[in-house]
Amino acid sequence: MSSLRNHDIPALRQLDVAHHLPAQSSYALQQELGGSRIITHAKGCTVTDGEGHSLLDGMAGLWCVNVGYGRDELAEVAYRQMLELPYYNTFFRTATPPPVELAARLAGLLAKAHGGELQHIFFNSSGSESNDTVFRLVRTYWMLKGQGDRSVFISRHNAYHGSTVASASLGGMDFMHVQGGLPIPGIEHVMQPYPFGEGFGEDPEAFAARAAQAIEDRILAIGPEKIAAFIGEPVQGAGGVIIPPPGYWQKVEAICRKYGILLVADEVICGFGRLGSWFGFQHFGFTPDIVSMAKGLSSGYLPISATAVSREIVATLRASGEEFVHGYTYSGHPVCAAVALANLDILEREDLIGRTARDTGPYLAAAMAERLAPHPLVGEARSLGLIGAVEIVAEKGTNRRHGGGGKAGPIVRDHCIARGLMVRAIRDSIVMSPPLVITHAQIDQLVDTIAAALDDAG
Ligand code: PLP
Repeated sequence: MSSLRNHDIPALRQLDVAHHLPAQSSYALQQELGGSRIITHAKGCTVTDGEGHSLLDGMAGLWCVNVGYGRDELAEVAYRQMLELPYYNTFFRTATPPPVELAARLAGLLAKAHGGELQHIFFNSSGSESNDTVFRLVRTYWMLKGQGDRSVFISRHNAYHGSTVASASLGGMDFMHVQGGLPIPGIEHVMQPYPFGEGFGEDPEAFAARAAQAIEDRILAIGPEKIAAFIGEPVQGAGGVIIPPPGYWQKVEAICRKYGILLVADEVICGFGRLGSWFGFQHFGFTPDIVSMAKGLSSGYLPISATAVSREIVATLRASGEEFVHGYTYSGHPVCAAVALANLDILEREDLIGRTARDTGPYLAAAMAERLAPHPLVGEARSLGLIGAVEIVAEKGTNRRHGGGGKAGPIVRDHCIARGLMVRAIRDSIVMSPPLVITHAQIDQLVDTIAAALDDAG
């Protein structure tokens, strides 16, 4: 135990190999590297590892630490709530104050963003669980409406909706489907709205129409009366920061309305300011029937997620008199909900979302346009708010990739880390999603480090 308290890093790395299976990892590589990188401290936008290296966190952890690290007030709220009531469940007609207050607070935020339809909140602990809730809720809704045949979900290739069986099935990542024999039946994947990858050189409006048409074509091929819902991330995050062309979401919404299909926005990354708006659907101007939220809801300080549901869905459940037989021990965990409330206070008090829209988001976009887009290895440097991607290509002016099937991204990422910047590689791209408290000087550091890492790799 003393090694843990004293952060004896060599011992921890040995224990990591001997006993710890980290998430989404190659255990061969973990062993080959002699253990994971152990992060021991963090403050603001900087994380520190056990060897004392400081890294600018260009990913906000895993797209989640929106208010930055080291917020005393979040720790104090957790401490006070743990002393007052560390846990009680929300099963069987009980509740505790924090989740009820948080539900009302989220309903208020959604009313401002959306117009008052999304007034009911179901809590879970993770984005994956939220999307599992969506899966069961949507099928239950249609069953109660007497339209049980409406059971098919439409999602996009390369979408990421989580890692549980249902959420990974909703996701469109083939390499995830291979493990576990996914997707489960009743889930269809259509093309993603990826202008650089699938609409290169195409007029954006024509590409938006083509990507939306692919959805309608699939609906018609299956039979509109069999389609329960369409689910999508406003900007696909883990798929490589895929920013859809203007008009795409309006077209998707119109298709869903035309055939009476529920529209689900997976806001697990986009929600709580990432795009410079409270929610991604606000930025793109569409109105979903269900919204999944996680990550920025608590800025990652504690695990909590929320599924917002329309009045119509809840009215149907109420009218049926049926129980919704779904929920988790930690649905509406009081400490997590109390921390989420305090996190929302910070986002509002410091106007971090307005600042992203007006100041830091445009500053990042300008720096990327000036210092990354012209680089000979860069095919495209794009961003929206404080999320962005740099596409690495073999030939400037094209979207032609280097040989090696996606190795260029990890090479550049490793140079970034060696230079003190934590970013992530997704195939042949580098993606970024820093805390919303990032300063101009730190944005300069982020962009200049990626430029230098590209030089290293070139
Ligand atoms: N949905 C989206 C859009 C995500 O990006 C993620 C995680 O990255 C999830 C769902 C799954 O969330 P979690 O990892 O909390 O289960």
